[in-house]
Amino acid sequence: MSIFSEVKEHLTARQAAEGYGLQIKRNGMACCPFHDDKHPSMKIDKNYHCFACGVGGDAIDYVSRIFGLTQYEAALKLIEDFSLPVDVKENAGFNAQEKEQIRKEKAEKERIIRIQERFQMWCSRTTELLKDALVRIQETGIFLMGKPPDAVFSEEYAQMLHAEPLINYWLDILCMGETAEKQEVFIKDRREVEHLAEKVRAAGERIVERNRGSA
Ligand SMILES: [Zn+2]
Repeated sequence: MSIFSEVKEHLTARQAAEGYGLQIKRNGMACCPFHDDKHPSMKIDKNYHCFACGVGGDAIDYVSRIFGLTQYEAALKLIEDFSLPVDVKENAGFNAQEKEQIRKEKAEKERIIRIQERFQMWCSRTTELLKDALVRIQETGIFLMGKPPDAVFSEEYAQMLHAEPLINYWLDILCMGETAEKQEVFIKDRREVEHLAEKVRAAGERIVERNRGSA
């Protein structure tokens, strides 16, 4: 017998969920922790099922979902946290299918972690890029004070000013937005963000270059 079936023999989804703080009404209904649930939509006993968002499964599945663990890690956590009499070391009794499942979950989890890391890096790098662009626009404005009108009304400076609201908009999202909003920028606007930041930087340099020394 595998630790999965042993854990499930010892623990219902209800016991596991209550153990991790879920409030369950006497009729076995609870507010679903997997979506923004105002009225109890989740039926929970041996297994759980949410009638609103559709998630469901057994005790191991519940814990894996709540804590973002693989099924195997969730089973180990339950054994540990509930002091279940399941011997993990002696329990190598996984069949081929379960072994493959454990391997797949582990690979998938690692893949997601890598994507998240890349995304986080992109967010902080792009935030810096956009802040630099904003500073560049401000500095160019200061630089242009008292310069001749043809410098002030140049095409490049117009482009920079035009870019400013969009840069502010992206910065707002990257600094204060929800993850989903940031992901949307990453997916839809990534090229445009980088392109615009570069355009602002180059325009600022050209303006300074061209007007250096002019009064
Ligand atoms: Zn739900």
